[in-house]
Amino acid sequence: MARIDLVDLAKSYGGNDAPVESYALKPLSMTWRQGGAYALLGPSGCGKTTLLNIISGIVAPSRGKVLFDGADMTVLPTQKRNIAQVFQFPVIYDTMTVGENLAFPLKNRGVPRAQIEARVAEIARLLDLTPDLNRKAQRLTADAKQKISLGRGLVRSDVAAVLFDEPLTVIDPHLKWELRSKLKALHNALDLTMIYVTHDQTEALTFADTVVVMHDGRVVQSGTPQELFDKPAHTFVGYFIGSPGMNILPAQVDGRAARINGHVIALERSYPTLPAGARIEIGVRPEFVTVAQPASELLSAQVERVDDLGRARFARVRIGEQKLAARVPNGFSIQGDMVGLVFDPARVHVYADSQLVEGAV
Ligand code: ATP
Repeated sequence: MARIDLVDLAKSYGGNDAPVESYALKPLSMTWRQGGAYALLGPSGCGKTTLLNIISGIVAPSRGKVLFDGADMTVLPTQKRNIAQVFQFPVIYDTMTVGENLAFPLKNRGVPRAQIEARVAEIARLLDLTPDLNRKAQRLTADAKQKISLGRGLVRSDVAAVLFDEPLTVIDPHLKWELRSKLKALHNALDLTMIYVTHDQTEALTFADTVVVMHDGRVVQSGTPQELFDKPAHTFVGYFIGSPGMNILPAQVDGRAARINGHVIALERSYPTLPAGARIEIGVRPEFVTVAQPASELLSAQVERVDDLGRARFARVRIGEQKLAARVPNGFSIQGDMVGLVFDPARVHVYADSQLVEGAV
């Protein structure tokens, strides 16, 4: 396994003369830690697969470098990069047994037979494939075939990294949860650098120690699931992570006060110098805005409906055209269609042109 450095990397499918704003991958520098479990998360078309395929060598970058442990891989073909990749759909040999499929990447590289047997047994055990080892792959379900693909990706212990591109797409929904947790356990057991591409936040948050969030060809934040929840660096992260997503409201911010519709919301930190001319918004997760009886000192909102998510109830409310979600405290019953909103000052963040602004204590 290796540390992977991406240095000033960018990709334009429309040629190098195209404006940077149109690049599928805007210029980016970052490091993937040796042995880390990463998720690359973002909506369809944000550039996840492009980035993954540049790391594996399937796609050539328009500029910049890919380094594995400091060695320049940028122009090397996939076969020379020592990477294992698992795709959306199973890549296996139907005529071979499960065991032969798992052994194939090792046999191909001349690994001694005893080592192959030990490693295949270990991977089969970790993926619950032991009872199927002698069965022909073609008789198995799509789920089981994709498990074999995962196993083939994980079987070599000397790879620089294992790259997964939406590997659970074909997996039956009720098995997804099980396999997600299994992949996490596999990462812990096998000590490999893993990068897992997905547009599904639950998959990303279950699997990864570090979630790298992409939006429109850029990495907008890289952090632990907790960091992404507590302190989204970009309004997109706030909105995309969490269910319901973060509330984002246009506001005027001055010192420790945010004003919405002339109403003041207290902030824990102070923002004396915001960039001139920037679009200023506040962001607060629904968990940290609670509904209360309307009162003159509270921002008032109109209730549209209440969603009961089991762990909590969230009211969907409206302030003019602006929609918000706010927690309904246990035992609280909403009277009429208006409520007051109580904001937790420590959890209200300020954004300038979508980027988090660090306040002063
Ligand atoms: P998805 O989950 O839908 O695969 P993604 O986040 O992986 O999305 P990419 O597949 O990397 O995104 O695509 C990023 C952008 O680059 C998209 O606008 C896509 O249309 C474009 N793109 C991807 N591959 C090519 C290609 N071979 N030629 C031209 N444009 C491409």
